[in-house]
Amino acid sequence: MSETEGVIKYQLHHTHSPLPAQIALAELNAWRSMMFKLNLIGQNPQRYQGYGFGNISQRLNTENLQFIISGTQTGHLSVLSRHDYSLVTQAIPQHNTLFSSGETQPSSEALTHASVYLQKPDIQAVIHVHCPEIWQKTQALNLAHTAADVAYGTPEMAAAVTQLFKSENWQQSAVFTLLGHEDGVIAFGISLSQAACALITELAKAIAEI
Ligand SMILES: [Zn+2]
Repeated sequence: MSETEGVIKYQLHHTHSPLPAQIALAELNAWRSMMFKLNLIGQNPQRYQGYGFGNISQRLNTENLQFIISGTQTGHLSVLSRHDYSLVTQAIPQHNTLFSSGETQPSSEALTHASVYLQKPDIQAVIHVHCPEIWQKTQALNLAHTAADVAYGTPEMAAAVTQLFKSENWQQSAVFTLLGHEDGVIAFGISLSQAACALITELAKAIAEI
């Protein structure tokens, strides 16, 4: 895999400032810790040239598409603090542009999260993990997927996500894979627990298939 994990490819306008005090992070942070325990988010010298992998977000506002997302280069941390999250205040996938604030910059895959939120107003959570078990079983599990020639964090990925939502009849939650992004899997849902449970259910199916 020649692409580099963890490098921000979109145009970022970031304001370095603390997150607004009224934003609650406990639930998001709990699920992020769970994903770390499952090795679905993390950092490992043996994987992806040692870059951190996986990220998680929760929507705050439907009208203006605002969401909280784990920060870039935080994969090595078992538990994140408030400083490790970023607030995306505006995202324009078709222009490859994102506006954010926080004490850390948003994940390099924030634009892909934005492109999922843009598909349906009731999507409240997006989890992107790296899971070889699910990714390699994309066909066996009959999972929807973006094509192998679509790289992460690009406007092409945003367009591919839009296309997937046109062709799939997804309801409250779903899981799909990114075949152009090694081990890349995305789960979304109307809540964090819905997205996470959909993901863990597919992981169990993948392990049962092996
Ligand atoms: Zn990734």
